[in-house]
Amino acid sequence: MNVKELIQKDKYSLVARAYEFARKAHLGQKRKNGEPYFTHVVAAADSVLEWGLDDETAAAALLHDVVEDTPHPIQEIRETFGEEVAFLVDGVTKIGKVRYRGIEAKVENLRKFILYLSQDMRVILVKLADRLHNMKTLYAVQPQKQKRIALETMEIYAPLAYRLGMQRLSGELEDLSFPYIYPEEHKWLIGHVKERFEERERFAQKLRPVIEKELNKNGIESVRIDSRAKRYTSLYKKLLRYDMNVESIYDLVAIRIIVPSLEDCYSALGIVHKMYPPVPHRFKDYVALPKSNGYRSLHTTVFGPENKITEIQIKTEQMHDEAEHGIAAHFAYQKTKDSKDYLKRNAAFADKKELVWVQQLKNWQKGFTNPEEFLASLKIDFFQDRILALTPKGEVFDLPFGATPVDFAYQIHTEIGNHCSGVKINGKIGTLDHLLKSGDIVEIITQKNKNPSDSWLNFVRTGSAKNHIRAALRHGKTTLNKSEPQFTDFRLAVANRDGLFNEISNLISRSHGNILTLNAQTTTNAKGGQAGNQKHTLLKIRCAVLAKDKSEKMLEKLKGFKEIKEISYKSV
Ligand code: MN
Repeated sequence: MNVKELIQKDKYSLVARAYEFARKAHLGQKRKNGEPYFTHVVAAADSVLEWGLDDETAAAALLHDVVEDTPHPIQEIRETFGEEVAFLVDGVTKIGKVRYRGIEAKVENLRKFILYLSQDMRVILVKLADRLHNMKTLYAVQPQKQKRIALETMEIYAPLAYRLGMQRLSGELEDLSFPYIYPEEHKWLIGHVKERFEERERFAQKLRPVIEKELNKNGIESVRIDSRAKRYTSLYKKLLRYDMNVESIYDLVAIRIIVPSLEDCYSALGIVHKMYPPVPHRFKDYVALPKSNGYRSLHTTVFGPENKITEIQIKTEQMHDEAEHGIAAHFAYQKTKDSKDYLKRNAAFADKKELVWVQQLKNWQKGFTNPEEFLASLKIDFFQDRILALTPKGEVFDLPFGATPVDFAYQIHTEIGNHCSGVKINGKIGTLDHLLKSGDIVEIITQKNKNPSDSWLNFVRTGSAKNHIRAALRHGKTTLNKSEPQFTDFRLAVANRDGLFNEISNLISRSHGNILTLNAQTTTNAKGGQAGNQKHTLLKIRCAVLAKDKSEKMLEKLKGFKEIKEISYKSV
């Protein structure tokens, strides 16, 4: 139900009152594209309702810009709409405060997100709805601002949506940002893939009824088949790995088969493989082994009719919903479905060692049958025994409560753990047994000749850190004597540009370089002339050791950046 429909149902409801309040408050204000400002907050509220959130969240979405942009203070919101709505509005207002510039701002922003995430996830969801509409109307904003906002969306909001399991939103945000950040690449992409997209789409249309008939014949009823065109941004990322050759991308348009039950997924897979032979090594069972953000589905690639290689995804309606709406899907299920039925259909998630907080959240909330109770404890319980800490680069790591810098170091990389010698927490020197809190920025200091001490076993919290420490203690003596290089260090002198560090580290990761640390030292070149005041940065990137040919290859690729003035590497 959207805002309009809710209001028609009940003119005096919370949402209807918030609607009237916001309409009056924003009266006369205009968006940059000339539309009444009010359209923006209604769009945000429609999004959160579409994601299945409650009335309080919809009201907060309607009121989210009132405190910032109109004379009405937060106390008035609290008196008129109550504590809950006021808390959400206040959170959304505060989260927007950090203007995005550079890596520190990114970290500070993430920190705020995490702190709110740990208090009430709905704040984040309103913020995402706000950003979605801002991106849709970004064309009307001044060009210098466009890029900053798009970059922030690409680096913070889209990954956050992804981590919350909201894949559709994440993809949409990326696609909305892409043309502002990479205008040339975007133009190239549209020019090169549009026809192929259309051709693959027609092919998928033809294939749908053929597959449906065969599934029905084999007793799988009420099947829904549609096709999913790959998003431009994810296509572009993939093309970078395939030498920009569109011909080699098989999932340009994937066929999506939605079946009633989990068992049907595997039966349908068998039927499809009988119709069309599978391409070897392309089958992925994300049902038994979900992705770290909770995504579940069977993926296979087959030699279809006319020998066309085609990707097929098989999932249930609920898996589909979760993939589209992620964490928000659970609010919807709580609200609309009979809870017993819901519990039955919610298959157990496989345990995975990596960032699993979305899955844990999903598992954890199964214990609640009533939505109010669920919401209340969502705010308190769950995040009390998990903490999210960041590296100075803004990478987020998920740890159990009571975790220490040593646990954090091992989460980053085994070698970082094995050689950690000290730590800075929020810029201050700390001890290795310090208890970390959510939002802490943790910088691990390593020393090559430093090795784990058995005293660490007394305070580390995670099992994986314990295992690594024990293993290192066992092998300690033998590895100590080896003088084989452990790291490959790249030194780059670069001219600063927004987003450059990210692109460089992405390129290294794509080329299978495992970045351990990244240090940047900025110097202002104050020489006179036109080039005066231009900022230069000395970038030191340490990777897990790379073979010589790999390092050379990496060097060649990095030389593609025109901002890189000097580059060298050595293995140490
Ligand atoms: Mn807004």
